[in-house]
Amino acid sequence: MDMLIEKIKCEGIVLSPSVLKVDSFLNHQIDPQLIHEVGREFADRFSSSGITKILTIESSGIAPAVMAGLHLNVPVVFARKRKSLTLINDLITASVYSFTKEETSEISVSKKYLSEEDNLLIIDDFLANGQAALGLAEIAQKAGSAVAGIGIVIEKGFQKGGQQLRDKGFRVESLAIIDSLENGMISFEETTENMGELIR
Ligand code: 5GP
Repeated sequence: MDMLIEKIKCEGIVLSPSVLKVDSFLNHQIDPQLIHEVGREFADRFSSSGITKILTIESSGIAPAVMAGLHLNVPVVFARKRKSLTLINDLITASVYSFTKEETSEISVSKKYLSEEDNLLIIDDFLANGQAALGLAEIAQKAGSAVAGIGIVIEKGFQKGGQQLRDKGFRVESLAIIDSLENGMISFEETTENMGELIR
């Protein structure tokens, strides 16, 4: 995804050797055209997987998940991080340690929206240590739904989440994989997608 990698290069801000800020197009302000393309790419990669629904987590997973849902023509369910007065009955929950907030919270989804017939695509904005994706996979498992794969907009390949999820047998598709954020520099893994970027 050249367009995404270009955007990260131009607008990504390295906050520390482990945290990248992309508030200008993904985590605060959203670039609809870019996220539309992100959704199309997820849909292409999982087009033959028989996805029935997308599962994500509020708030930054919602935009890419909705765009993927639009292209795959399936509904999108997002796990809530906070208790809600309207979300009270028949909840499926999992505990998730937040990489950015450094606290554990209970995430929840209503049983009404996931079933044994579902074949889910889990989507999130970032992959660091894999806690959010594992929490969503746990919710899927409690609902009896299958997980066809996990789609990530930006994977930090130098943190352990990607390896852990792949070792557990999940198909993980990341649209940009960052190798390092050392010395304030963003460097990308030389995957096939990124090679075009390096050659140009
Ligand atoms: P994980 O659960 O894989 O440890 O972390 C993924 C979650 O933490 C994502 O939902 C994302 O919101 C947040 N996150 C992890 N690393 C970063 C980062 O470098 N930048 C931003 N903006 N969010 C991150």
